[in-house]
Amino acid sequence: MDISELLYDEGLAVGYSRIGALKFSDIENKSIEKIKQDHPWANSIIIATFHYNFYRIPSQLEGKVSKKDLFKGRYIKHSHENDAATEFEALLSKERIKHLDMTTLASSIKNSIAAEMGIGITRKNGYFYTEEGSYCHLHAWLLDVDLTCDFDEPPTDCPGHCGICVKTCPEKALTKSSKDTEKCIAFKADLIFDNFTIGCDHCQDFCPYNKHRWEYEEEYIGLTYE
Ligand code: SF4
Ligand code: SF4
Repeated sequence: MDISELLYDEGLAVGYSRIGALKFSDIENKSIEKIKQDHPWANSIIIATFHYNFYRIPSQLEGKVSKKDLFKGRYIKHSHENDAATEFEALLSKERIKHLDMTTLASSIKNSIAAEMGIGITRKNGYFYTEEGSYCHLHAWLLDVDLTCDFDEPPTDCPGHCGICVKTCPEKALTKSSKDTEKCIAFKADLIFDNFTIGCDHCQDFCPYNKHRWEYEEEYIGLTYE
């Protein structure tokens, strides 16, 4: 089996919903030049999306913390998200592919490269969406092999007439074409915890592309449920 097919199939098997990879030479995002410079051994980048939309939200935290922060499991040992990443990295090692977890890569760059790979798009509310909606975290690795993995179809753009996220934003952080991260509560997660101010997911929760996406099934490791 071709290595891109193998990584794609195994990536889905460990719990990712979308997987894309591109050779540096095929990436248009300008940040790739700096990445190449910093990691001369690397040739490609692979990005996988982990959807966390199957957890129960403790009633005492409902609406108080952004779900992307509440269920951030990439480095929480034995969380589903950590297990997926660990198993995927083990597969890369087994295939003798040198890899580096790009945990520090800015979300905006990750989202933009993931969009070039065709695994999703950034919608008007500023969140990255796959066909399964926006409740996902993106994991990225640099690889020392030339790899193209483009099996996914990107979702369609926001309908031109839709402005639900703009209307529902309590901070007026959104316009039809941009997001003011200074005003957005979700970008101030640390402050939120310190000051017990509420978090915010309005622009995602009311978005039609997230309708019926949250399944409320499992308890999340380390949280207390009343
Ligand atoms: S997360 Fe909340 S504050 Fe931020 S843009 Fe969305 S609705 Fe507005
Ligand atoms: S609410 Fe409408 S405009 Fe906003 S992100 Fe969703 S589809 Fe796009």
